[in-house]
Amino acid sequence: MLQPQDLIRPEIHALSAYHVTPAQGMLKLDAMENPYAWPGELAPELIHEWQAQCAQAELNRYPDPQGTALTSQLRIQLGLSDDLDIMLGNGSDELIQILALALMSADRAVLAPIPSFVMYQMIAVYTGMRYVGVALQDDFALDIQAMLAAIEEHQPVLVFLAYPNNPTGNLFAADDIEAIIRATPGLVVVDEAYAPFAQASFISRLAEFDNLLIMRTLSKLGLAGLRLGYLLGAKHWLYEFNKCRLPYNINSLTQLSATFALQHQTTLTRQAALICQEREQLQAELARLPGIRVYPSAANFILIRTARGEADKIYTRLIQQGVLIKNLANQPELSDCLRITVGSPQQNQRLLHGLSAALN
Ligand SMILES: *Cc1c(COP(=O)(O)O)cnc(C)c1O
Repeated sequence: MLQPQDLIRPEIHALSAYHVTPAQGMLKLDAMENPYAWPGELAPELIHEWQAQCAQAELNRYPDPQGTALTSQLRIQLGLSDDLDIMLGNGSDELIQILALALMSADRAVLAPIPSFVMYQMIAVYTGMRYVGVALQDDFALDIQAMLAAIEEHQPVLVFLAYPNNPTGNLFAADDIEAIIRATPGLVVVDEAYAPFAQASFISRLAEFDNLLIMRTLSKLGLAGLRLGYLLGAKHWLYEFNKCRLPYNINSLTQLSATFALQHQTTLTRQAALICQEREQLQAELARLPGIRVYPSAANFILIRTARGEADKIYTRLIQQGVLIKNLANQPELSDCLRITVGSPQQNQRLLHGLSAALN
């Protein structure tokens, strides 16, 4: 009988599919989702207007292949100059895949710090590229000497830097990022998925470097269900990448909902400001718990380190209390680490109670 491993590429057969822990009925603080509904309490009057627009969508027709209205809305909001372009993706995950498809070849390397966002490595593996991970320092700052040495040795076609980094939450030093962009023979993607929670961005510096791209997403801002990411960069690069984008990758309801949400963006930015306030509060309260080390965060989540060997037990006890966070303790660079998404004030209180109980 024909077995999958007779046909499936060995590197794929060896992988596990991206795992999403079932969260039915749980307080979900594992995936950096915005805790507030959209449009939510801040602007309940918007819901009718949005629904009316959805009702008029022509779902018998293919979507606008270029996402014209959405792209112009983004251009206005970002103040993007004419020599730069935007490419829309079905989440930024799809954009990572498009970049890899356009650049892939077995002898070429994709480079990123570790720990960082898992999809950089997964997509490098899917596309049969070499993946080079360079360890961060103990405080999760970039090890710039090691990065530059690895860039010199492997000559990567693609470098990913998450800014702020997931799962550590910190912003890398801008000088280090600049040195990496200058040293890289290929493209550097600064992944700004958490930009809504960080007072930092490389967008204003796109014109300075001919090998810089910026990736963003609406997921962490509060619209994870829409699946919309976007890539910013020079026109001549995006022109090529656009050839690897599947036609109609952004569905009509996403296009109109995202355009509408961005036209009323104050709702989302006010939610982001609330989340940042709550992050400061939660960091302070977590730091008071015995045996817990709290790492600084410029994102909507907080990485903590438990006493040695305690993380699995704490994670499981939280689940028993109906609270789901992310267990990272099985990754060697993140031993004893757990990642907590910042929720609403009530949710964070529930988490803190659960955590105190789990620590006893
Ligand atoms: C969550 C995340 C993404 C993925 O975003 P989607 O747009 O939802 O695919 C990309 N990069 C980083 C660093 C993330 O944490």
